[in-house]
Amino acid sequence: MKDIEKLDKEYVLHTYARNYINFKKGLNATLFDDENRDYVDFTSGIGVTSVGHGNARVAKKIFEQASNLLHTSNLYVIEPQALLAKKIKELSGYDVRTFFANSGAEANEGAIKIARTYGEIKFEKKRYKIITLENSFHGRTITTVKATGQSSFHQSKFAPYPDGFSFNAIDDVYNAIDDETVAVMIELVQGEGGILPFPKDKIQELAKFLKDNNILLIIDEVQTGVYRTGEFLASNLYEIEPDIITLAKGLGGGVPIGAVITKHKDIWGAGDHGSTFGGNYLVTSTGLEVLDILEELKDSGKLDETIIYFTKKLDELYENNRDIFITHVGLGLMRGLRVKDGDTLALLIKTAFECGVMVLKSGNNTLRFLPALTISKFEIDEGFKRLQATLNKIK
Ligand SMILES: *Cc1c(COP(=O)(O)O)cnc(C)c1O
Repeated sequence: MKDIEKLDKEYVLHTYARNYINFKKGLNATLFDDENRDYVDFTSGIGVTSVGHGNARVAKKIFEQASNLLHTSNLYVIEPQALLAKKIKELSGYDVRTFFANSGAEANEGAIKIARTYGEIKFEKKRYKIITLENSFHGRTITTVKATGQSSFHQSKFAPYPDGFSFNAIDDVYNAIDDETVAVMIELVQGEGGILPFPKDKIQELAKFLKDNNILLIIDEVQTGVYRTGEFLASNLYEIEPDIITLAKGLGGGVPIGAVITKHKDIWGAGDHGSTFGGNYLVTSTGLEVLDILEELKDSGKLDETIIYFTKKLDELYENNRDIFITHVGLGLMRGLRVKDGDTLALLIKTAFECGVMVLKSGNNTLRFLPALTISKFEIDEGFKRLQATLNKIK
């Protein structure tokens, strides 16, 4: 056993089936281990390092900010926080305000609290129930685990869970609504559930129905947000106007940040919600730099070029290996290939690592790709070359 493995196993709680490669450095979508082996990274830390590893602009921003102020608390105004909230409003195209949290789950907790506040103040009889979708994923806190639409997550050892959550197939949401329902919370492309994009017409129909019935629509964009699908928000792509949107993963480029965005701009007053770290100088100045970089990438046409090129290479891999892959799914740089069975997928991911390319699993049988949005053509070529070598090896 390597020393690092011993150290980790001795002192860190065992909640992950860890790989013990010891990464030392990253450069855009390439990682280097302690033996200086390189890996093409098609995972970006599960959709987090949106502007790549070792990004010089982000590093400079963090150094400058850390040299001045990291944190003062939310008792005092935080200039980069206000600027980031303004930027999010502008890029989203919605008339919204933002609350900053530290993670996706915490952002979703905020969304749930906004919905329940709405249910209290807008109706004679309080509404509090929230409907989510089967195969969804909303986080690991006790409430967001319960909101997650997969029974396997609702382990009895964590019980009891908060009331008011149920999950359904999208077509059954209509019937599940009762006079205590306040909101429906969904992902537009299910990330952990198997890279499942919902059809646009279905989402628009649901959005209209909810609006007509005064039920809030919460879109969990923790994975789909921040240009992952090609637009700033997947909600932009689906042309809907959600009541609440949550962001996290890609927003900080690697620093922990979450955001709850809502058009119900005056729903809360002082003391209604809070967070010690949320939106501090470090994370919001970094978030601003990340959004500047990504906005430039989008406006220059480079992001769209990258998506087209990545899609072409992914299609080639799919066409050349139809004995392994069933379908090609996803949007933008959130893609998946369904593999014929789970065992083959596990072997594929393990062998890919040995061949120097990192990929993710999603659902039971989906090979998932979430590369940095800044990934280069060379890295894409190299990654797919290594994946084909992987497939040749396991066949
Ligand atoms: C990752 C994810 C979360 C949880 O985010 P954390 O930062 O791990 O709390 C919530 N919702 C979706 C859609 C996610 O992909």
